[in-house]
Amino acid sequence: MTASQKYPGEAVELPLDDWLYEARPRQGCARCAEALAELHAAKKSKNASARFEAARKIRLCPHGATP
Ligand SMILES: [Zn+2]
Repeated sequence: MTASQKYPGEAVELPLDDWLYEARPRQGCARCAEALAELHAAKKSKNASARFEAARKIRLCPHGATP
């Protein structure tokens, strides 16, 4: 038996990236458009948490549905 594996110290690109930032904005949805703009801005500034947050907004968006 080998010792338990440890995480390497160096930073690695997360393979999660694709689905984590996956966003499917709906055409004509104002909230999605807004979040998409945030997403692009965050991507540009390499702000990973803001990017994730924006993608999440789109995923959770009710797409104009009235509460
Ligand atoms: Zn929407």
